[in-house]
Amino acid sequence: MQSLTDRFGRVHNYLRISVTDRCNLRCLYCMPEEGVQFTDASNLLSYDDITEVVRTAAGLGITKLRITGGEPLVRPGLDGLIRQMSSIPGISDISLTTNGLLLAKQADALRDAGLNRVNISLDTLDSARFRFIARRGELRRVMEGIEAAGRAGFDPIKLNCVLLRGVNEDEIGSFLQMAMEQPLHIRFIEYMPIGHADDNWRNHYLPLARVLEVADSMGLQYRNRDDMRGNGPSDDYELIGGKGSFGLIHPISDEFCKRCNRLRLTADGYLKPCLYWMDELNVKPALGSSEAMEAMFRKAMDLKPASHEMAAKLADSALSHIPTERRMSQIGG
Ligand code: SAM
Ligand code: SF4
Repeated sequence: MQSLTDRFGRVHNYLRISVTDRCNLRCLYCMPEEGVQFTDASNLLSYDDITEVVRTAAGLGITKLRITGGEPLVRPGLDGLIRQMSSIPGISDISLTTNGLLLAKQADALRDAGLNRVNISLDTLDSARFRFIARRGELRRVMEGIEAAGRAGFDPIKLNCVLLRGVNEDEIGSFLQMAMEQPLHIRFIEYMPIGHADDNWRNHYLPLARVLEVADSMGLQYRNRDDMRGNGPSDDYELIGGKGSFGLIHPISDEFCKRCNRLRLTADGYLKPCLYWMDELNVKPALGSSEAMEAMFRKAMDLKPASHEMAAKLADSALSHIPTERRMSQIGG
């Protein structure tokens, strides 16, 4: 088996799979308040279709999967998909990114089905602010989801926190304190202009160097942990004397593409070589033929660009390709 290696020598072993573009929230950095045109259920890849794509991907060296959305837990029967995928030879790690609202009810079933890890999105510890950022839902239910994930035995539990200038930057200290006191890994994420590069993004984008400034001002001791990094985009830190840790995902202020090892499959069946650019390949015509599906993955490798250019976008410089028009909820993050 020849591994999935792109023109720049990057080996791909990680597939992010979106199972739906629907969501029970409308986070202000992800989806417009009025929502987007959702994919008709008949145009979604079925769980059997997804399993077929994963079987070919596993034969090409994909070992790690992440289920995402939209909100993946709004699609019924997700534990069934996880059970199917966890029995595929070569798949060694299945994780989930969720907003946590429906997790309390499903955590045990997901764990039983073979889910290894969860990331739960949490941008604020204040319920009124939660309503402002997510526009719907209740913070209390997310906190219940985090507790249920712990009880179900997920370890580590990672929390994804998108930092927004003027909205939640004053909570960096509270999140760091949380990681000192609890065995949680807080991943701070820069706001990316996916499907939009409007005033909302320009006004609220916050470079993550701010996190280290806050940690220093609190007198926290931390150590960069290259060994925690794996080959993902996160720059991870151990908090000395603390129970948890934190990580920085800073695509704009410190581009991570040199280490990129991932492909994305959208809920409507498109393979995306890069989160940022518009190139995508429709896998539906290849269903039923593992040769045709393998050719899709090889083509995605050929289309894989050297990097995104979000920093150039921020500087209003010319870009080399056309950015995607999909919003993050239509790709999966
Ligand atoms: N609904 C699930 C959730 O919120 O965790 C999964 C899908 S969501 C698209 C995946 C991740 O992308 C979340 O952690 C979310 O905070 C992040 N995200 C969404 N839009 C983003 C943006 N414009 N910039 C940075 N991160 C974003
Ligand atoms: Fe939904 Fe997740 Fe996007 Fe928020 S970030 S709107 S929870 S898909």
